[in-house]
Amino acid sequence: MKFATRAIHAGQEPDPATGAIMTPVYQTSTYVQESPGKHKGYAYARGKNPTRSALEKNLASLENMKYGLCFSSGMGAADAVIKLLKPGDEVITGNDLYGGTYRMFTKIFAPLGIRFHFIDLGKTGNIENYVTPSTRIIWIETPTNPMMNVVDIEACSAIAKKHGLLLAVDNTFASPCLQNPSQWGADIVMHSVTKYLGGHSDVVMGALCINNDKLYEQLSFIHNSCGATPGPMDSFLVLRGIKTLHVRMERHCYNGKIIAEFLAAHPKVDKVYWPGFPTHPNHAVAKKQMTDFGGMISFSLKGNSMEEAFRLASATKVFSLAESLGGVESLIGHPASMTHASIPKEEREKSGVTDSLLRLSVGIEDIDDLLEDLKQALDRI
Ligand SMILES: *Cc1c(COP(=O)(O)O)cnc(C)c1O
Repeated sequence: MKFATRAIHAGQEPDPATGAIMTPVYQTSTYVQESPGKHKGYAYARGKNPTRSALEKNLASLENMKYGLCFSSGMGAADAVIKLLKPGDEVITGNDLYGGTYRMFTKIFAPLGIRFHFIDLGKTGNIENYVTPSTRIIWIETPTNPMMNVVDIEACSAIAKKHGLLLAVDNTFASPCLQNPSQWGADIVMHSVTKYLGGHSDVVMGALCINNDKLYEQLSFIHNSCGATPGPMDSFLVLRGIKTLHVRMERHCYNGKIIAEFLAAHPKVDKVYWPGFPTHPNHAVAKKQMTDFGGMISFSLKGNSMEEAFRLASATKVFSLAESLGGVESLIGHPASMTHASIPKEEREKSGVTDSLLRLSVGIEDIDDLLEDLKQALDRI
């Protein structure tokens, strides 16, 4: 079946007890057993919950993968992947990761003896220089946050396969609607479900999708043992959110393109980062692996003034100043002081997160109102 149909139906059957078309919220922590160990596959809700199981099957279907696992946050999902490793193991990853992922890698796992190489993944030819006998995982994010760099998943996968490494892809920015990393050889696909999948800025959740049986078993074991599992109400809200994913993404992409072009032509704007521009350094790769370019856009101001960026971010009325992304409402953020505040100034400037850089999560409001809002805010700085 096609994506739109799977978004609405995959993993979901009418409730066997009542015929309810919506998967019920199984708000329970435990399940009655007939005799010790004899049950219907559900023993304790950290391990398994039917509302969550429906969502896990739905996500696996949307990613064209065999298994899904839902976590209580995107970071919980990423944490489980790195827990596959032992002290001395190494990870090759990008130098413009989501700030929270960078923080977890450097502040939590590096002190436990895992080595991370943060490199420029725009040129995948670089990667092999960092492969050692201890390398275990290539971890990529594409498009990246907030610089909208695009990493060639297929090229990374070829290197991973050649050296027997796992390729993990954070697919949060594209969502499974615009990109399926497994099609290009990813072993693990990670999501901050909080963003486009949930889509309504009302849930924090993460997910992993996996094809390999043994890898799924290992990750399930970590999932249940460490316990970063989401509750049934959040699972229900995400199942509901995903039913409109394909329709929302269409509008995010439509609005995103118009706004990217508007910004690129504005006299006060310096650079605009959006993979849909033919001048984007990895436009060809984006065209190959994505079906459209999404609603995430970053831009900097001429003169690179942090004060002007602050004024602009406070002057918008339809775009709300907030962390996060991927919801129906438009958001504006200032990465250097918000999402990327935990990255040292020299580090973030190397990757383009300058003082005036602003990031837009273009929502699905009327495009005329969004354009008008940006116009008046740019006039006021
Ligand atoms: C938000 C985000 C995360 C972290 O997810 P949470 O749900 O906030 O824990 C990871 N990667 C990317 C790209 C994100 O945008």
